[in-house]
Parts: sequence; C-alpha cells; structure tokens
Amino acid sequence: MWSLEHHGVMEHTDRQDAPADERWEVVIVGGGAAGLSAALVLGRARRWTLVLDAGEQSNRPAHGIGGLLGHDGLPPAELYRKGREELRAYPSVEVRDARVTGGAPEEGGGFVLSTADGDVVRAERVVLATGMTYAVPDLPGLAPLWGDTAFHCPYCHGWEARDGALAVLGADHGVHRALLLQGWSRDVVLLTDGPAELDDAERSVLWSAGIPVVERPVAGVTARDGKLSAVVFADGGELPRDGLLVFTPLAQRTGLAEELGAVLDERGAVDVDGFGRTTVPGLYAAGDVSTLMPQVATAVAEGSRVAAVLNGDVLAEHHGIAPMIPARAAA
Ligand SMILES: Cc1cc2nc3c(=O)[nH]c(=O)nc-3n(C[C@H](O)[C@H](O)[C@H](O)COP(=O)(O)OP(=O)(O)OC[C@H]3O[C@@H](n4cnc5c(N)ncnc54)[C@H](O)[C@@H]3O)c2cc1C
Repeated sequence: MWSLEHHGVMEHTDRQDAPADERWEVVIVGGGAAGLSAALVLGRARRWTLVLDAGEQSNRPAHGIGGLLGHDGLPPAELYRKGREELRAYPSVEVRDARVTGGAPEEGGGFVLSTADGDVVRAERVVLATGMTYAVPDLPGLAPLWGDTAFHCPYCHGWEARDGALAVLGADHGVHRALLLQGWSRDVVLLTDGPAELDDAERSVLWSAGIPVVERPVAGVTARDGKLSAVVFADGGELPRDGLLVFTPLAQRTGLAEELGAVLDERGAVDVDGFGRTTVPGLYAAGDVSTLMPQVATAVAEGSRVAAVLNGDVLAEHHGIAPMIPARAAA
C-alpha cells in the first residue's frame, strides 16, 4: 500500500517502516457531499485517502436535492451512490462503511481513530466531514413529511411548495423566516406555538407584509396522500396548509471533533479558517460540520477546497516551505 512510485515529490521513506496497523495520508470521516468531494480531489491528486462513512447523510429523507447544479432534484441516495462509484476510478482512495467512535491526536503528529467494528486507523491528516444533526421538532405527524412538505430550508424545498398555503412554525427567527418564505408564496402564516415575544416593530413589519401571526399552541399536523394537509392546534382547531417551514438548530453529531482537539465556535460548528483548517495542525473540516451555509452545493465546494488546501500543506511540509495558502495564525 505504501509505495507510491508514480509521484516523486510524494515519496515518503517512512512508508517502508509503516506500522502493521494502517496509517493513511488522509482519513476523511464522513462520506456525504463534503467527504466524497474531498476524496475525489485527493484521489485525483494521488493521495492515499480512506473515507470512513456511517452512511447517514442528513438529507436522506428528502425526495430530491434542490439547488445542486447539474443534479437539481436528484434523490440524495443517488448522489452518494454516484459519488462512491466515481471514486472507484482512483486507486489511492478507499471508501469503507464504518462508524468512527473515537479519536485522538498522536504524539509526534497525526491522529488515531477507532471504529465501532474495533478497527484502529492512523492518519497523517484528518478531514472531518461528519455533517450535523438537525433537531426536527417532535411534533405528532411531522416525521413522515420531513424533507418534503415539512422542511427547514426554502432554498431546498420552497420551489416545490410554491404558491401553496404555507406556514412557518416557531418563534425562533420567525419574522425573518416568514418574510423569506413569502418569496415562494404570498400566503404565509407565522405560527408562534404559544404567546409570541414579538415587539411592536416586528408585529408592524409582519402586518405590513400581510403575514398573520397565530399564537395558539400547536399540537400536531395531519396529512393527505403523504402530503401535509393541516396544522392542528391544542384547542382542537385546524389550519389547512400545504407546506410547513420548521426551525432545526444544528449540533455536532458526536464529540469526535473535540476529541481530536478542534475548537467549536459559538454556533457549535467546528472553527475553521477560510480554507477548512481547524486550529489543530493536520485537522481539517468541511461541509455542515463547520459551515454557516448548510447546503449540498456548499458541502461539495468546501470538500473540494479543503482537499486542495490539504494537498498544498503536505507539499509545503515535505519541502520545508511556507504553504502557498498561508496557514492560520496560531490560536
Ligand atoms: C431533510 C433535509 C433535506 C435537505 N435538503 C437539501 C436540499 O434539497 N438541497 C441542499 O442543498 N441541501 C439540503 N439539505 C442540507 C444538506 O443535506 C446538507 O447541507 C449536506 O448534506 C451536508 O453535507 P455533509 O457532507 O457536510 O454532511 P452529511 O450529508 O450529513 O454527511 C455526513 C456523513 O458523515 C457520516 N458520519 C458522521 N459521523 C460519522 C462518524 N463518526 N463515523 C463515520 N461517519 C460519520 C454520516 O453518517 C454521513 O454519511 C437538507 C438537509 C436535510 C436535513
């Protein structure tokens, strides 16, 4: 595995002395849009790259991917299947179905990761592409509609809901989300699920925009033919609706990033510089796990960028020169 004759600058004499357990140039944790995109670029750059993926990409419940150039509306599972298939062309890349359960930086550099199957994998560099959990409201009837007529992102699913009777659930960023959703339909209601803490200015903005505020507690939703049909209130009343925008705070899926030494920002995302470098040398992040803009296109772009930056960092380290893209200042 360790002789890479074809690429002089990347020859590593220590490969002959590699320990019996695995030590890869790069391990990517997560094989969603970000991880597969990074693997593609690293494979094309002939880096020994292992992708460990638990296969639970966050948009799997969705009917299609909205807003991904060249793949608009493609079922998410199909994107991941195609992504893995493309990687088969690159012999230095391996994709494994595995869940990383722990990790730590190693003395002298690099990282060690353990998987749920009991494997131990070592890496000179790690890319975290683990995505985030989306906290979907625990509302009776909502789960089967999630990613279709109940959605969190108008850019992803607003087009399919256009011109319908829509509602925004929850007071969190309610004013902004309601105004945003009006780009897809004039018929938008803000459901604050109980008394709303809206000031006069906010109520006035909503009133001017023609967005009613309903403060009755919400008890659930009903569906017809697999699509949202109404929002049900705790008092028994119903509001017929075709689409529901819900608020889903994002959070780290596991403590892995912190185990590897990464710092989280105030949003709970991995703190990276503009190029996906974390505060830990050799540890990178891409996609939802570190982004402000959780979308598939963003994840693909960040995966691609982090791979190129990482590759440049390897070269710089190997030849003892400064990276072409300057490293972030020490924290
Ligand atoms: C319901 C829904 C619908 C969406 N629809 C759209 C849409 O239409 N258009 C759009 O642009 N965006 C959409 N998004 C957002 C989009 O899905 C994300 O921005 C995108 O998937 C992020 O890609 P990622 O690679 O960062 O993370 P993910 O796609 O979540 O992939 C992360 C991968 O890492 C794996 N992983 C995590 N931890 C570990 C571990 N410890 N070991 C091994 N593997 C691990 C996961 O199992 C998963 O396979 C949607 C999101 C949701 C929740």
